[in-house]
Amino acid sequence: MAGGEFDLIHRHFRALGAPREDVVVGVGDDCALLRVPPGQLLAVSLDTLVAGTHFLADADPEGVGHKALAVNLSDLAAMGAEPAWFTLGLCLPERDDIWLGAFCRGMAGLAERAGVALVGGDTTRGPLSLSIEVHGFVPEGVALGRDGARPGHRIFVTGVPGEAALGLAGLQGRAAVSVAMASHLRGRLERPEPRVDEGMSLRGVASAAIDVSDGLAQDLGHLLEASGVGAVLEVDRLPRSPALDALERDASLGFALTGGDDYELCFTVAPERLGDLARAAARWRCACTEIGRIEAGRGLRLRRSNGAPWVLPTSGWDHFIS
Ligand code: ADP
Ligand code: MG
Repeated sequence: MAGGEFDLIHRHFRALGAPREDVVVGVGDDCALLRVPPGQLLAVSLDTLVAGTHFLADADPEGVGHKALAVNLSDLAAMGAEPAWFTLGLCLPERDDIWLGAFCRGMAGLAERAGVALVGGDTTRGPLSLSIEVHGFVPEGVALGRDGARPGHRIFVTGVPGEAALGLAGLQGRAAVSVAMASHLRGRLERPEPRVDEGMSLRGVASAAIDVSDGLAQDLGHLLEASGVGAVLEVDRLPRSPALDALERDASLGFALTGGDDYELCFTVAPERLGDLARAAARWRCACTEIGRIEAGRGLRLRRSNGAPWVLPTSGWDHFIS
């Protein structure tokens, strides 16, 4: 972005996020120089958001900034990593200081709370899109992979999956959402809170973990696949909320199982670690709900509490979820 690129970077990206002593050189030189603590692995993840695909071009820029960083921190959380730094690749159709100011405010608020510093990036002109790469630390041997679930392990989920998708369906007029619920659901969609502290407290406790970005059934499916196991998920144990309870039961379960964008954690725990989990979860700011059990037979089986199989309704269902 010629003409004022230096000024733009200086104004918006110079000191964004938490100040950290392990940043030897941050924004402004050819590279950032960063100090990784001895004995720890560097956890790295990148996500790209494209206007029109992942957010609307006229979406509130503060929300876009928050969510772009949140979805990346969620990946660190799912690995049990402690967030440290991030870089930002930004493609802008034109310089717009008001948009950039709000975007950076949204990002900075979450960055400061999560203790991460923006240490570099790239700014170019083109269709609006952004990539964030996050970096975190995890001591060697305790990262939460997707592949550690074994038969007999219990399956848990944080928070209330399904509310973000219900918020989107409400905004698009595909689901009836009361005025009282609308702002809560919009917050769940636009300001997801990555479960960073929860993920770190699962080190040595969870046998496997994944974050729920594409729907609980699908993301749990990835975990089962990676672990070479299957599971029974008891749909009547799925976390509920006033907003989900206002829907017909099948629709509410559909949102909980297939709705994306929640950024909750789904994880498994061996029976002998359940006491450790209870102690850890007592300090969490979100719910922790047991929803099923790992079995040797491959695949995900959905059951009612009476043991009867439950199938995602197909007719009338795609009406609710795009
Ligand atoms: P170079 O041409 O050497 O790649 P740039 O002019 O692209 O350097 O960037 C100058 C400095 O500003 C670098 O330290 C780079 O990391 C930083 N920077 C550029 N764009 C961003 C951005 N969107 N967010 C954070 N830092 C950025
Ligand atoms: Mg450059």
